[in-house]
Amino acid sequence: MTRTDADLGEKTQHRVRNERRGTNLPRVADYNQMLVLDLIRRSEGISRVELVQRTGLSAQTLSNIARRLVDAHLIRQSGRVHSGAGAPRTIFEVEENGRYAVGLHIDPARLTCILMNLAGDVVATTVESTPATPDPADVLNAIEASIGRLITESGADRSRIAGIGVATPGPIDLTQGAVIGAPNLPGWEIVQLRSELSARMGLPVIIEKDSTAAAQGEIWNADEKPDNLAFIYLGTGVAAGIVLDGEIMRGASANIGDIGHLSADPDGPICYCGGRGCLSATAMPATLVASAVAQGVLHSVDVSDAHAVEVALAELGRIATAGHPTAIGILDRAAHGFGRVAGQLVNMLDLDAIVFGGPQWETFRPSFLRVVPAIVERLFMGRDLHHVDVRGTSIGDPVGAVGAASLAMWSTTFDTPGRLYLTS
Ligand SMILES: [Zn+2]
Repeated sequence: MTRTDADLGEKTQHRVRNERRGTNLPRVADYNQMLVLDLIRRSEGISRVELVQRTGLSAQTLSNIARRLVDAHLIRQSGRVHSGAGAPRTIFEVEENGRYAVGLHIDPARLTCILMNLAGDVVATTVESTPATPDPADVLNAIEASIGRLITESGADRSRIAGIGVATPGPIDLTQGAVIGAPNLPGWEIVQLRSELSARMGLPVIIEKDSTAAAQGEIWNADEKPDNLAFIYLGTGVAAGIVLDGEIMRGASANIGDIGHLSADPDGPICYCGGRGCLSATAMPATLVASAVAQGVLHSVDVSDAHAVEVALAELGRIATAGHPTAIGILDRAAHGFGRVAGQLVNMLDLDAIVFGGPQWETFRPSFLRVVPAIVERLFMGRDLHHVDVRGTSIGDPVGAVGAASLAMWSTTFDTPGRLYLTS
């Protein structure tokens, strides 16, 4: 294997950076275990022989890893298959309910909680409005109640819940496990999300930027790992999660993907940043809703209220779907802006795919799928070399929560000393 444990530490979960130092565990072995579990998890059942072929590990190493995974109740031996001459093949399957993880997605307009099992199935979901108050304690109270209800109603064995992953608007500070002055969460100066939530729930907590979590949710259960994509997350704000060579990118402080100040409209208004026609100044939900109100398509809306904006934007989408030309024009103009930004991302990163998702995606979808592909095709300098797919998320609304849960599942299964370590 050419991969080292540094990959795991850097790319699987940042918490690892602080906690893994000082352990004497064989790190490459740990990565191999993760790789084997991931292959088994993604399959319907896979033979020992095929695992050896696909991982490049020796048969002996593979057997040792498989035994540890079985002992940890993460996989099971599901039988033997005879195929022609020779010894029967041992088949492994994931132990679906051997572990669970909670995924929480904090959007300024709504809180989504899911409980996911090791097979990647969402076994329970709660969605509710984010309390419209600037006091983070009120939001934390709502989160605590929501997760408690989720676990109770799912009937899952609480001792098998590995941890909680939180997808949150950035910026985030991973050293503190905190959200720092998120522009879309008024009143959240510095909120110690990781320690607060961990103390309340008695579980390990990891935090991740919402757009990065969404990208992780998109690739977590894909049949084939998509190699190079930008997941453009459409919530109250906008950001991009980046996957290159099949791996989530995070950047120096895990705040990658702030695309709000890329140019969406060269003839647009001057932004506070000094640029012209920035995405955040021309195509954000609050801007579109304000435009619709100004043009008489919607009644007056308080655009500082994230929930009111979400409701109004959905209404704008319904009016557009009914054929109202002004409403269609407003959403199409936003689609042109996102198309230009997608073109810049594709050129800079040489992507295979642009994937859209997030709470506002359903509203934007008709315009975006009609407008964006042609713009990306026109702007992409490498168009003669390969195609760029433009599509919506295959996971749907809870993609951020799914990604957060998968990160929590992975980091706690492989990196919490003394709890779920598989290496003996
Ligand atoms: Zn700007």
